[in-house]
Amino acid sequence: MKPVFDRVVAARSGVAYVAQKGQVVRVSEVEGGQIVDFVVINADNHRERFSQARTKANQGKIFVSKGDKLYSRFNTVMMTITEDTYGIHDLQYGMCSRWVYESKEYSGFSSSLQVGGPLGRPSFGCFEILIEALSPYGIAPEDIPEPLNIFQTVEIDPKTGRMGILPGRSKPGDYIDLRAEINCLIGASACPSTGKPFRITVFE
Ligand SMILES: [Zn+2]
Repeated sequence: MKPVFDRVVAARSGVAYVAQKGQVVRVSEVEGGQIVDFVVINADNHRERFSQARTKANQGKIFVSKGDKLYSRFNTVMMTITEDTYGIHDLQYGMCSRWVYESKEYSGFSSSLQVGGPLGRPSFGCFEILIEALSPYGIAPEDIPEPLNIFQTVEIDPKTGRMGILPGRSKPGDYIDLRAEINCLIGASACPSTGKPFRITVFE
């Protein structure tokens, strides 16, 4: 596979890119333990967007890995996961935001997680990062879909539904490959909750 785009995305920043149908987007760990909030929008119809709910229901599972698909609200297959060295990616949580870090109401982090990682508690989240990354493409904040949280490891109590984010076990070099099945505007955020960079590479 020939790379056509390659970038190390700094901690607490983001990136947007239009992946043409057939191209493969690789999201990799640089230091390990980083979460990447990843959203997909139909590049030819910005009103069609990734759906966490359809992706779970259509495949009858709450985790996706190699061979699984990312669906839109209209049940279009937007991307297919073609490789995955980690195996656990979250589809329950939305994305973090300034509110998450400021609010007394929020209880989505497990007590074992050091929120913010090496950089300390953040003052903004993936929502603010993706607003900035996607605004040049004309995407309004309210039109940014809930993400696939790559490398985000959660524990879920099947009886109570109680859930929490655990410290990730991903290592440097772990990656997931997603093949674009339509022209995809993608946005990816180095989640401030974990405070490290990630790498994105797009292959022809
Ligand atoms: Zn986040």
